Amino acid sequence: MSNSILKVSNLSHSYEMNDLSIKNLNLEIDAGERVSIQGPSGCGKSTLLRLIAGLEEPSEGQIFINGDEVSSKTYSLPPEKRHIGLVVQDKALFPHLSVYENICFGIRKESHQDQIAYDLMNLMKINELKDKFPHQISGGEKQRVALARSLAPDPNFLMMDEPFSALDSELKHSIYNDFLEIFSSRKTTLLLVTHDSVEASIMTQRQLIMEKGEFK
Ligand code: ADP
Ligand code: MG
Repeated sequence: MSNSILKVSNLSHSYEMNDLSIKNLNLEIDAGERVSIQGPSGCGKSTLLRLIAGLEEPSEGQIFINGDEVSSKTYSLPPEKRHIGLVVQDKALFPHLSVYENICFGIRKESHQDQIAYDLMNLMKINELKDKFPHQISGGEKQRVALARSLAPDPNFLMMDEPFSALDSELKHSIYNDFLEIFSSRKTTLLLVTHDSVEASIMTQRQLIMEKGEFK
């Protein structure tokens, strides 16, 4: 029996009448595996994550999550039913919610919401920002809130699109360690897009290179 969380099969995508941004792409990720994608700007990395998340519909091919088909030419399971975490660059936080409320947003009400939120604020060193609103904090701080929020619901499968790029290098390296610990204790499956080959080799076990919508 296959142990794959994600299977992408002969996937192609074009935006309207443009050239293909994803070309006949195949990818399989096992449960608990951490995989990164690197490649030049515009090669299709974010598009691939958006297709997997269900935010775009493919022109051709199929996507399976936990063995179930979630995307094909004729069928698309809505993003919220895919149970995948996604952290994007410049992630818009909910502007009318405080840092604390943003982090709590995805936590199931019956769980120890407060404890989870405080642990994550500690981890991301944003405790003192707890009651601030997104417009009152810096870009790097917003990114740390977005990272805390992405871990709060304890996703099985997390996709991150250049999640650490707005952080200074000292904080980045301490976060790598903390995240690795969390991922290995939770057995989180990770698909990470990054520009940084050092980050890719620290954070993931398998490094893929994308060029013009294909893996090299
Ligand atoms: P990357 O994340 O690797 O930088 P993207 O997936 O964002 O690349 O983009 C892949 C290609 O698709 C690029 O040529 C880009 O210009 C194009 N593209 C991305 N988003 C859109 C969109 N919403 N509409 C039209 N073209 C887009
Ligand atoms: Mg991108």
